[in-house]
Amino acid sequence: MKALVYDGPREVHVKDVPDARIEQPTDVLVKITSTNICGSDLHMYEGRTDLEPGMVLGHENLGIVAEVGDAVVKVATGDRVCLPFNIGCGFCRNCEEGLTAFCLTVHPDPAMAGAAFGFAGMGPFWGGQAEYLRVPFGDFNCLRLPEDAQDKETDYVMLSDIFPTGWHCTRLADMRPGDSVVVYGAGPVGLMAAYSAMIQGASQVMVVDRHPDRLRLAERIGATPIDDSRGDPVEQVLDATGGHGADKGCECVGYQAHDPQGHEDAAMTMNRLVDSVRFTGHIGVVGIFLPQDRNASDELERKGKIAFDMGKFWFKGQKVGTGQANVKHYNRQLRDLIHQGRATPSWIVSHELPLAEAESGYQHFDARDDGWTKVVLHP
Ligand code: NAD
Ligand code: ZN
Repeated sequence: MKALVYDGPREVHVKDVPDARIEQPTDVLVKITSTNICGSDLHMYEGRTDLEPGMVLGHENLGIVAEVGDAVVKVATGDRVCLPFNIGCGFCRNCEEGLTAFCLTVHPDPAMAGAAFGFAGMGPFWGGQAEYLRVPFGDFNCLRLPEDAQDKETDYVMLSDIFPTGWHCTRLADMRPGDSVVVYGAGPVGLMAAYSAMIQGASQVMVVDRHPDRLRLAERIGATPIDDSRGDPVEQVLDATGGHGADKGCECVGYQAHDPQGHEDAAMTMNRLVDSVRFTGHIGVVGIFLPQDRNASDELERKGKIAFDMGKFWFKGQKVGTGQANVKHYNRQLRDLIHQGRATPSWIVSHELPLAEAESGYQHFDARDDGWTKVVLHP
């Protein structure tokens, strides 16, 4: 089959690989029809992880069930399904509590919790930027889609990651109706956090970034764009909230935070959130803070550790929630919001490309070229 393979930093190629197939009786084989490129793929693409060459990338997948293992009972050939990026077993203590991003059995290393498709450090599972994807524990990990699946495919494929991840960020921040919310980062994840806050009844949503195309999208959904190339974003948030700061904050950038002046600081957004959120407010963090980089200088290697201002955070009595999104936990509800027309996350999509053009999709998305907000690939 054809698949997008990681061959080294900024070297991804569409090539022939052995066909994905059923390996366990609980597996489901899915013919992929839509698969997105994610900001998380860029950590691997740019060579900041210890991913070995040969991995098929792609953790935001949707398709049609092509074959099921003998032990599969809930999905059948022909079903249209969306696949959460995390792979859960469904029966460990964490999966039972809905913490499917921290499944205790799927990752082969017992010291690790959580597994994912096509992801450095998250197990050996190939991703779905390919013609076919093997889905372990298919009964648990396939979200069946309703009859409008084909018409709304670019909406439903956002259920695999960024829509639930944005939603998760607002839940980590304990956002309530009427709250004001500030989101750092207007990438696909930050924009979905802002959108989730709007849907859940935030009174005011502010989104900080500097890319005009991304800030325009924030404005289009009713959020207030805050351009940090025009001045200190913290001051702009305080000005917009009567000097108190936002009730809740969302971190959707991660350790590669930098500012328009070119200053890099992995703790930048966390410290700006502490300053931008009111006393006793909550902060949700979904941006990734990678602990190491095989090829990096010492300074970069330390980037999982950040110079977070614990003193100010403590003094303000704030709370923080972190981690990968338990996608499965939100999927049924968010699917139904889409089905009922209450959510249309496809507004984030800027480009739809055939899998054969994935390499150019990666280049443009990685360069954050104007207008390249979210790329959907169709194998
Ligand atoms: P992205 O790289 O497309 O977007 C990041 C945005 O942050 C960019 O628009 C960039 O201009 C902006 N930015 C950089 N520095 C900033 C600063 N100091 N202040 C404000 N904005 C700043 O990535 P994405 O796809 O939106 O993903 C965002 C993060 O979320 C990544 O770290 C990704 O790995 C992570 N992620 C986490 C989960 C999860 O489950 N927790 C899931 C998906 C993605
Ligand atoms: Zn993703």
